[in-house]
Amino acid sequence: MSKPQIVWLRRDLRMADNPALYHAAQAGPVVAVYVLDDECAGDHKYGGASRWWLHHSLESLGKSFGARNSRIVLRRGDAVEELAKVAHAVGADTVHANRHYEPWWRKAQGQLKDKLELELYDANYLFPPGHITTGSGDPYKIYTPFSKATLEQMPPRDELPEPETLSSPDDWPASDELSDWNLLPTKPDWSGGIADFWEVGEAAAHERLDWWADHVDEYDDGRNLPSVDKTSQMSPHLHWGEITPVQIWHRFKDKRSQGWKTFEKELIWRDYAQNVICQFPAYPKESYRDRFDEMAWRNPNRGHLIQEELEAWQKGQTGYPIVDAGMRQLWQTGWMHNRVRMITASFLIKHLLIDWRHGEKWFWDCLVDADYASNGTNWQWVAGTGVDSNMFSRIMAPLTQSEKFDAAGYIREYVPELADLPDDKIHDPEEHGCKPDDYPSKIIAHKEGRERALEAYRDMKSG
Ligand SMILES: Cc1cc2nc3c(=O)[nH]c(=O)nc-3n(C[C@H](O)[C@H](O)[C@H](O)COP(=O)(O)OP(=O)(O)OC[C@H]3O[C@@H](n4cnc5c(N)ncnc54)[C@H](O)[C@@H]3O)c2cc1C
Repeated sequence: MSKPQIVWLRRDLRMADNPALYHAAQAGPVVAVYVLDDECAGDHKYGGASRWWLHHSLESLGKSFGARNSRIVLRRGDAVEELAKVAHAVGADTVHANRHYEPWWRKAQGQLKDKLELELYDANYLFPPGHITTGSGDPYKIYTPFSKATLEQMPPRDELPEPETLSSPDDWPASDELSDWNLLPTKPDWSGGIADFWEVGEAAAHERLDWWADHVDEYDDGRNLPSVDKTSQMSPHLHWGEITPVQIWHRFKDKRSQGWKTFEKELIWRDYAQNVICQFPAYPKESYRDRFDEMAWRNPNRGHLIQEELEAWQKGQTGYPIVDAGMRQLWQTGWMHNRVRMITASFLIKHLLIDWRHGEKWFWDCLVDADYASNGTNWQWVAGTGVDSNMFSRIMAPLTQSEKFDAAGYIREYVPELADLPDDKIHDPEEHGCKPDDYPSKIIAHKEGRERALEAYRDMKSG
C-alpha cells in the first residue's frame, strides 16, 4: 500500500479544484491537516471575524471529509513542527500544499522543505503570482498594465474535480477538537449579525455563485451603489479558498456583458494584490513611499482626543452618515461594500489625518475577508502611499459620495437614528437642521479636515 500523503490545508478550505488534495489523493491515503499557528503571522495573527469564519469553514469542510469516511486532523502550534509530527506518526514523507504568499507562509514553506518532501501547487489565483511579467521579465508594479497582460494570458488553468475517492491511513493521528480552539466569541458573543449575514463553506460559496450568475451582468451599473446588492459578496469565500477565481472564471467565460468584463477585472485586482506582496512582503505594514513617514500624522497613541476620534470612526460615530453606516456594517456583518471601504478609509487618513496603518489593523480584526495582500494594497491605494495608488491630495468628499452613489437606503439600514429622514436630507442631517439628538455632530467639518490634510501633505513635500 502507498504511504499516506499529508495535505496541508490553509486558506484552501474546499474539496473541488484543490490541486494539493487532488494530487495527494492520487498518490495514497490522505491525511488532511489544519494547523492553527497563532505565532507565525506576528501582528497579522487572525482577528476576531477571521477566527469566526475559520471555525465555521473548518466545521463545514470537516463534514465533507466525513461524508467520504475521512477527516481533517486539527493541530495547534508551530505549523512546520506539527506537520512533521503528524508525518512521523503516520509514516508519511510527503506534504502536498497549495502555495500561499503571505511572508510567514513562504517562510514556513521553506522550513518544511528541509524536513519533508513538499509538493507545492498553484491554486488560489487566476495565475500564479509572479507569473505575469513585463517584456523584460520583471513583475508588474502598476495595476493597469498588469491587468492588460493578465487578460492577454487568459484562459487560466483548467479547474480540477473533487478527488474521486479518499482513502484513509491505517491509523489516524491525534487531533484537537475544533470547539477547544475557542475561535468563536463568547463573552460577549458579538457574532450574531455576522451569523445572520453569512452562510459559510464550499457549498455556500457555490450557492452564492449560482445567485451571482443571474446578477453579474448588472455589475457594471450597480457595483458602486451600496443600497442595492449588486456586488458578488464572494470575497470571504475567495479569501478562505472555499471557491477559486479559476472556477468563477470558467463559469462565466462565455458571457459577453460589460458586467462580467468589469467583474473579471476585479478578480484581477485580487491577483494584483498578491503580486504586490510577493515583491514587497511588508507592504501592509510599511508605506511604499517612505517619505510619508515624515507626514505629521495625528497619532492616537499620543493624545486621548485623537484616540477618541479613532474610536468614533471605529464605532461609526463620526457624524458623517455614509462613514458611520459603513463602519457599523463592518462591525455588524464583518464586511463592507467596496465603495464605502474607500470612503471610510479616506476619511480616517485624510479628514482625521490618522496613519493608514491604524485603519488597516481595524479592518484586519473586523473583516471576514481580511486578506494580508488585498487589505494592505487597498489601504495604501487610498492613502496615496503605495506603489500604485490614488494621489494623497485627491480627497473624497463623503457627503458628495453619499449623494452621488444614492446611499440613502444603506444609511437607513445601518444608522437607525436617521431612518426617518427623507432622501434629500439623510446624507447631511446637520446641514439641513434635522440631526436627531441621538446622532453625533460632525467630528470635523469637511472643509477643515480637507485643508488640514492638504497642508500636512504640502509640509511633508517641502520638508
Ligand atoms: C480600504 C480597503 C480595504 C480592503 N480590504 C480587503 C480585504 O481585506 N480583503 C478583500 O478581499 N478585499 C479587500 N478590499 C477590496 C474590496 O473592497 C473587496 O474585495 C470587495 O468589497 C468584496 O466584496 P465583493 O466580494 O462583493 O466584491 P466584488 O465587487 O463582487 O468583486 C469580486 C471579487 O474581486 C476581488 N476584488 C474586488 N475588488 C478588489 C480590490 N479592490 N482589491 C482586491 N480584490 C478585489 C474580491 O475577491 C471580490 O470578492 C478592500 C478595499 C478597500 C478600499
